[in-house]
Amino acid sequence: MFFRIIPKREIPELVRGLASQFHVIGPVAKDGSFVYAPLSAPAELRLDYDTTLLPAKEWFFPSSETLMRFTVADNVVIDDSVDETKRVLFGLHPCDVNSLLLMDNVFLGDNPDPYYKARRDNTLIVGVSCMPNEHCFCNAWGTDETHWGFDIFLSDIGEDYYASIRSVMGAELVDRYVAGRPITDDDTAAFQRRTAEFKAAFTNDVDTSQLPVLLDAKFDSDIWEKLGEKCLACGACSMVCPTCYCFDVHDVLEADQLTGCRVRTWDSCQFKEFAEVAHGHNFRDTRASRVKYRYYHKQWGYLSKFERVLCVGCGRCTRACKAQINPPRVVRALQTGLVD
Ligand code: SF4
Ligand code: SF4
Repeated sequence: MFFRIIPKREIPELVRGLASQFHVIGPVAKDGSFVYAPLSAPAELRLDYDTTLLPAKEWFFPSSETLMRFTVADNVVIDDSVDETKRVLFGLHPCDVNSLLLMDNVFLGDNPDPYYKARRDNTLIVGVSCMPNEHCFCNAWGTDETHWGFDIFLSDIGEDYYASIRSVMGAELVDRYVAGRPITDDDTAAFQRRTAEFKAAFTNDVDTSQLPVLLDAKFDSDIWEKLGEKCLACGACSMVCPTCYCFDVHDVLEADQLTGCRVRTWDSCQFKEFAEVAHGHNFRDTRASRVKYRYYHKQWGYLSKFERVLCVGCGRCTRACKAQINPPRVVRALQTGLVD
C-alpha cells in the first residue's frame, strides 16, 4: 500500500476521469436519505453521507436478477451471460468495504458464484472515511477500519484526503486523473488525529466480549420468545443488511409457454416460508425460532466457519426494524437475561 494526498477540490476531477472509463456509482441524496446510485455528474456525489438505505451488496448481488433464459420444449439454456460492466463504487464506508469481504467468503468460496464473481472482478472500490451516527457499532467488531478490499481509500484530514492506494489500477487512476502529492509526517499526524476523533465519537457502546459463549449458554433462554413476540416477520432487517445473502431461485415462463427464465431474488430467514420443506413441514415456524436463528447464524455459525461474525455494525437493521430488534439490544438481552 502507498499513499498520496489528494485535495478535496480535486475529487470532481477524479470522478469525471473515472466516468470516462467506468460506470461510477456513489452515495447520492434521495428523499431525505442516501442511496448508492449511478452518478450523472460529480456534484451528485455526497461523501458527507452518514449511511445509505440499502447497502452496496445490491451492486454485486441484486435484489432480483435473471440467471439464465431457457427453452421449454428442448430444455436448452439460451442465455446465461454474466454482467461484466466496468464499474467504480465510489464512497464506501469501512463497514461496507468489510461487508463485501464477508460476502466474498460465501460467494467466492470453493464453488464461486459466476454472477457475483463477474461483478466483483469488474468493480473497483473507492472507500471514504466517516463519522459514526447514533446507530453505528462497527467498532464492536473491528469493522470500523479496513486495510483490504479497496483500490483507493480516502481518509478525511480537513482540506485534503489522505489516500491509501491498495491496487495497481487504483494507483494508475490516481496518477492519471489527480495531481495530488506525496504524504509528509504532518499529514500522517493529521491522519492519526482524525482517527482518534473518529474512535472517540462512538456513542453506541456494545460489549461483544464472550458473545459465542453467551449464545451457547442462552440457547434455551426465554429472551428468544420475548423477542419473537415483538418481531413482525417483515424481513426488513435482512433486506437492508450488507451481510445477509439468502436467496430464492424460481423459474418464470413467458406468455408463449415456450421460453422462460430462472430468477434469483433476495430472501429472508425471517419469512415464515423460509424453512418450509416438502409436505409442509417447517423447521422454524415460530417468529421466536426465526429471530433466534438469525442471531445464531450471524454471531455463531458464520463465526465458527470464517472466524468473523456476519455483521459489520452498520446499524441499518436498527433503523429498519419497527420492533426495535437489533444486535445491540439482543446482545444486552443475552447479557442481562432481560429484553429491555
Ligand atoms: S445485522 Fe444489522 S448492524 Fe449488522 S451488518 Fe446487518 S444491518 Fe448492519
Ligand atoms: S427483527 Fe424487525 S425487521 Fe427483522 S423481521 Fe422482525 S420486525 Fe422485521
